[in-house]
Amino acid sequence: MNRLFFRFFVLVLLSISAAAFIVYFAITWLFGDPLENIARRQASAQIFLLEQYIDQAPADQWLERLNKVREVSKVQYELLPAASVRRQLAGHDARAFERGELVLDVGRKAFYRRVDLDGQRYIGSEEEALSAQNLPIDVGFAMQLEMVRYVIVALVLLVPIGFWSRAHWRSLQRLSNVADRFGEGELSARAHMQPRDSVYPLAERIDHMADRIERLLAAQRNLLHSVSHEIRTPIARLEFAMELLRDAAGHSALVKRIDGMQGDLAELKELVNELLGMARLDAGQSLQRQPFALGPALEQCVATLPPAAIPVRSELAPDLGEISADQRLLLRAVGNLLRNALKYANGQVRLSASRVDGPGEAGQALRISVEDDGPGIPEDERERIFEPFYRLDRSRDRSTGGFGLGLSIASKAIALHGGKLAVDASPLGGARFLITLPA
Ligand code: ADP
Repeated sequence: MNRLFFRFFVLVLLSISAAAFIVYFAITWLFGDPLENIARRQASAQIFLLEQYIDQAPADQWLERLNKVREVSKVQYELLPAASVRRQLAGHDARAFERGELVLDVGRKAFYRRVDLDGQRYIGSEEEALSAQNLPIDVGFAMQLEMVRYVIVALVLLVPIGFWSRAHWRSLQRLSNVADRFGEGELSARAHMQPRDSVYPLAERIDHMADRIERLLAAQRNLLHSVSHEIRTPIARLEFAMELLRDAAGHSALVKRIDGMQGDLAELKELVNELLGMARLDAGQSLQRQPFALGPALEQCVATLPPAAIPVRSELAPDLGEISADQRLLLRAVGNLLRNALKYANGQVRLSASRVDGPGEAGQALRISVEDDGPGIPEDERERIFEPFYRLDRSRDRSTGGFGLGLSIASKAIALHGGKLAVDASPLGGARFLITLPA
């Protein structure tokens, strides 16, 4: 709000200053300098005295009258060589001086005029100029009046602009709030603005776009779920048929082939189960939150891992305490990370957990990290590996197994708990997967 208002404020002040200058120059151009007009009015007594009293004297008494005025006036009248006055004047003033007009210098509070153009005042007077200094000129007050006028205009303009930008700002805030919530996965977030709102057309389009995205994602989820679900039945039938076939084959050479086919079928079944699990997470599966002690649960997760040549080193802080979460889902995420680490590590896998201070006002957070000394994840792949079916090139061969769903499922499960899963490099030399959960 402040930034928007400040920009308007500066813009209005700049516009008003520009308007003040334009008004001044336009009036000067059309009607003459208004400040000079004011000064001329303020010095009108002295000008009147010069033109109607001194200048009206006969040629031999002109100087005498000037001296009389000098004696009684506070204004300093002086006779100067016309050449020295010419050096001070330029442009329009210089031309007026040559024409014998009275030239006013507002800044110096003075006026200048040639004494005589045709030698009628007194002998030699054509090359002299009369200057009057200390004239009672004060344009400061007039300038102050102008300033007050412009400041009042600026303030009166700023009040409605302030209200307007405030209303605008609020609507924009609401829109950016909706965009944030939508981006964080709350697909039902909408702005729902009134037609009288200034950004209503934009809000309406954003709501419309959100509707379409929500519908598309729901359709995609449903399709994934339905297809996975429908495939389960023929797989079950195939499994049963394979079993019968294997029994019938006895000890013939066919058994090896049938074993291979059963292995492929098991893999297919696992993929379908993974897909169904992911579809459920995508559909915003409701969490079965229950308080449980995190330390023992993590130990149990390590214990249920398939036997591996590499031991998992657990470094769990003693103050982990209890956490209210969906234990099955959370341990599944940690299990996926541990299985990956065991798959890619050269000889070391470490699981650590501790309580840390959350960012900003977030209070305490729980941090669980799974590290290994394997090849790690290249920096430019660290975002993408959480996408479903995404595998690094080196893992494309089936030797490492996996469908590229493990990390995607883990990251969705953590997000459902309001947490975040990220990856960076581990001091052990490989990848470090970091789970941060609100405590
Ligand atoms: P997969 O089931 O294929 O392991 P994931 O989603 O679990 O799929 O992982 C995606 C990809 O991220 C993997 O194919 C692998 O290339 C990479 N990856 C995951 N964990 C690690 C790790 N600990 N070290 C190195 N690469 C990893």
